[in-house]
Amino acid sequence: MTTHMDAEEFRRNGHAVIDWIADYWASLERRPVLSLDQPGAVAGRLPSAAPERGEDFDRILADLDAVVMPGVTHWQHPGFFGYFPANVSGPSVLGDLVSSGLGVQGMLWATGPACTEVETVMLDWLADLLDLPARFRSSGTGGGVIQDSASSATLVATLAALHRASKGRWRGDGVEGRYTVYTSTQGHSSIEKAARIAGIGDGNVRPVEVDDRTLAMDPAALRSMLEADIAAGARPALVVATIGTTSTTAVDPIPAIGAICREYGVWLHVDAAYAGASAVCPELRWTHAGLEYADSYCFDPHKWLLTGFDCDAFWVADRAELVEALTVLPEYLRNAASESGAVLDYRDWQVPLGRRFRALKLWFVLRWYGAEGLREHIRGGVEMAAGFAGRVRADDRFEVVAPHPFSLVCFRLRDADGVDGDAASAALLARVNAGGRIYLTHTRVRGAYALRLAVGAPQTRASHVEEAWRLISAEATAVLAG
Ligand SMILES: *Cc1c(COP(=O)(O)O)cnc(C)c1O
Repeated sequence: MTTHMDAEEFRRNGHAVIDWIADYWASLERRPVLSLDQPGAVAGRLPSAAPERGEDFDRILADLDAVVMPGVTHWQHPGFFGYFPANVSGPSVLGDLVSSGLGVQGMLWATGPACTEVETVMLDWLADLLDLPARFRSSGTGGGVIQDSASSATLVATLAALHRASKGRWRGDGVEGRYTVYTSTQGHSSIEKAARIAGIGDGNVRPVEVDDRTLAMDPAALRSMLEADIAAGARPALVVATIGTTSTTAVDPIPAIGAICREYGVWLHVDAAYAGASAVCPELRWTHAGLEYADSYCFDPHKWLLTGFDCDAFWVADRAELVEALTVLPEYLRNAASESGAVLDYRDWQVPLGRRFRALKLWFVLRWYGAEGLREHIRGGVEMAAGFAGRVRADDRFEVVAPHPFSLVCFRLRDADGVDGDAASAALLARVNAGGRIYLTHTRVRGAYALRLAVGAPQTRASHVEEAWRLISAEATAVLAG
């Protein structure tokens, strides 16, 4: 007979799990940032088949340490400076736990009203915190929804844009003709993927040239590309502008791009996946100039706003357009609340039907930290990054290769007599990461190899960034000595 975990067992084991997570967070600094496991090591520690008989929870928890932990890269480690941060926090984990416990499937308002309404209000709260244009609020024509990721937000925006550009024919007869999508050469890979899924074709994703110094989209280049494509019979559907590109955090000039989009009737989606969180600080909100032109906008609280993956906040200016593009209504989902028009059904705002109660973790985070706490977190990251950039600039062996308005610094060893900057920088990264104290990733900027240091893990303090600089500087000496 099936043996469920009873309430007392759940309580006891649950406390043990919370203790385990608290101990893990307290131990982070003593661990090497990167897993040292070789490919196949984790799989090799697992039995080849599921157990026939149920096991004790103590044994499961013990194997977490023995089997899983050696294969974990510690994204919450104070020395984790790779990619972009993927913050998590106590209130986020606890909110997520409540969501798991409720086990609500919130595809429709009618399948659990709180799942929809808490989410609508949280996205309105966030829109206020970021001072987004009024038309993104649910009180107007727009509204916000949680997507699993910025990639899904891009896909949903692409589908809505295609719906608009085809005047709805996309839904009925399918796509005929050549539809085009525009983003800068620095745009995220999810844009190409979304176009592919939508059936637009890679070749119709048009890379727009950027300004050589700022790496931001050149609006004049966008305009000439649009005109040439229209003259050649294409139908421009979507422009994706980026606030904080993945490679270097370049900020596209949204006011100029937005005016062009309006002129040509093209959907403007603004992807602020990482940098959007910084707009909780008024002094960093300049990046949002021109957002009143945007048809949709997204950022990832799961990157830099202390909310665990997955949580992408996505807004549209006209929710009717989005719902029209995506809705499919089978008989078994018909219900009086939906038909009354008085409720939002988020199934029509996303690709999957089902959805978790993700707004709970956001609610817990926003209440625990308050706007003040979130601003402090962002400001701390920006300050630490600026301090690091100052160290790099003061050292002649290095150069900072792109502006750093947020908490990412891109830098490299300079080309010099007998020094190939690309090779030296790659060697430096390998040495620094091998030490286990810190972890950085890399990119290419104007073709040149560069290291990326992204500050934002919750436990990172100025002393950790100082230590990172000491390690990098010492390893640079070793690299340059050959
Ligand atoms: C990280 C990032 C994405 C993808 O984010 P996911 O939420 O992981 O899909 C998209 N765009 C930009 C600019 C990013 O930095």
